[in-house]
Amino acid sequence: MRMSQTLIPTLKEAPSEAEVPSHVFMVRGGYLRKVAAGIYSFLPLGWKVVQKVERIIREEMNRAGASEVFLPAVIPAELWQESGRWDQYGAQLLRFKDRKGGDFVIGPTHEEVISALVRSDVRSWRQLPLNLYQIQTKFRDELRPRAGLMRGREFIMKDAYSFHVDERDAEREYRKMYETYQRIFTRCGLAFRAVEADTGNIGGSLSHEFQVLTETGEDALVACDSCDYAANVEQAVARAPADPQTASEQCKRVPTPGQHTIAEVSAFLSVPPNRLVKTLIYLADGKPIAVLVRGDREVNEIKLRKALEVAELLLATDATVREVTGAPVGFAGPVGLKIPIYCDLEVQALADFVVGANEADAHLKGVNVDSDFKPTASADYRMAAGGDRCARCADGHLRAHRGIEVGQVFFLGTKYSKPMGVTFLDVDGLEKPAQMGCYGIGVTRIVAAAIEQNHDKDGIIWPVPLAPYEVAVLELQQDDDNVIATSKRLYEELTAAGIDVLYDDRDERAGVKFKDADLIGIPFRLAIGRKGVAEGVVELKRRSGSEVRKIRIPDAAALVAAEVVAERRV
Ligand code: ATP
Ligand code: MG
Repeated sequence: MRMSQTLIPTLKEAPSEAEVPSHVFMVRGGYLRKVAAGIYSFLPLGWKVVQKVERIIREEMNRAGASEVFLPAVIPAELWQESGRWDQYGAQLLRFKDRKGGDFVIGPTHEEVISALVRSDVRSWRQLPLNLYQIQTKFRDELRPRAGLMRGREFIMKDAYSFHVDERDAEREYRKMYETYQRIFTRCGLAFRAVEADTGNIGGSLSHEFQVLTETGEDALVACDSCDYAANVEQAVARAPADPQTASEQCKRVPTPGQHTIAEVSAFLSVPPNRLVKTLIYLADGKPIAVLVRGDREVNEIKLRKALEVAELLLATDATVREVTGAPVGFAGPVGLKIPIYCDLEVQALADFVVGANEADAHLKGVNVDSDFKPTASADYRMAAGGDRCARCADGHLRAHRGIEVGQVFFLGTKYSKPMGVTFLDVDGLEKPAQMGCYGIGVTRIVAAAIEQNHDKDGIIWPVPLAPYEVAVLELQQDDDNVIATSKRLYEELTAAGIDVLYDDRDERAGVKFKDADLIGIPFRLAIGRKGVAEGVVELKRRSGSEVRKIRIPDAAALVAAEVVAERRV
């Protein structure tokens, strides 16, 4: 592509709202322009990268035996009512009416549509298994769209859905997709980790997320430093302490005037936070409950909601806390409480701890489980944290990481097939619901994640497989016929060799061309200048390195083409 003939509007400055490198460089590099919050236009460079990601995904999904389909973005509400998600999905679901007053949504995900398709056309076990995927625009009315492509409202997803005669076959496909995802993200040149995950809005019983590890990631993860256990903190299992402590004190009221927070009470009583116990009041499907975790820990609301088997879990308002405990916020405790008490395993193992006294300006010391209060249940309700012992292996410890979720795989079981009647006639003549799996990849998010992992202060450093162009040919002097002829010749030779070349033939100074090539992030740069051409050489530089190699003009195209091809990872 001749740069003079396309639209690559590079900018010196990024808009002030762009904070993370991927957002900054995609705007400055002329990849992306904002249309509304979380809604973007892809310019030619941005769209080329998206297409490269899509191509890798298609090749690997097809290799795994899946078939591509294309489902509508606009979905009638009836399908969402059938699955129950019309009411459950909440405000992320963009709903609207057509001219006849019928309700519709713009698909944030497509379990309903695919289930409706398969139930009407698949009748027999002979037609299974089936894995159908699409690459398509999704819309989720995210509360806080952020970081450009990272969390958009409109974005592109690859979503696949598989249907099986039994659980065993669905699990086989789950493993196959897991491996396919590993191939896809490896080919995209990403450093990632598969982690155990919560099943969230999609539901089901088994799930892994594929997380690209970077500091700017939104998700908190823990990974064992010894075994391969890794999980989203939403999901991570916290190991129960090995030996319970033994009680030696009696429960005693102590005045703590004006000491509300863990830090304040800890300092005031000279007791470390891990010997204090937090009592949090929640409304679980509207009913008040108390949850106890150690003072240095946080409640994991996702685990808690699952353990209690409730749909809604809300932290109680100050007024409710006062009503339930008889004390202002900061002084709640389990002793004498009349509501169900859920006790984290660490608290269960603790002895002689400090809790609120359920009255203003007082705490209780020397408190013990069972002798001072009876928990309704004890289980793992806390957030796992870096430094914890691993719950899976004998001697590992968890480390905290941040990640960007680029894909997720789910074993769904019959969560959608039952309510939506996706059934088939089995060999034994019985009608059964299909076992399902679903598998998503954030296509546009991969683009952002790749930049988060591959950039420096000057711009993007694309891995070859995702680069919009593999080689930049920089024509450094516009007034020199030899420079122009050599540049054009190299551009044509490389293009003929099947290389994606961006030919900077613009009427710009050499400095501008160098800067833009760095910003855009093309992996190989061939600079053609007056002095070199006179000597019969051009200069080759990798975007990722600093070495500049002088190459004889007749050898240049073949040499560069060979280096590019070696890095394509097909
Ligand atoms: P998140 O937790 O980040 O909101 P999710 O778990 O709800 O995402 P899935 O339903 O698993 O998302 O969707 C599949 C993939 O689509 C995700 O792994 C992610 O890569 C991508 N994705 C989800 N939401 C967005 C978004 N708002 N913008 C860009 N990509 C997204
Ligand atoms: Mg997800």
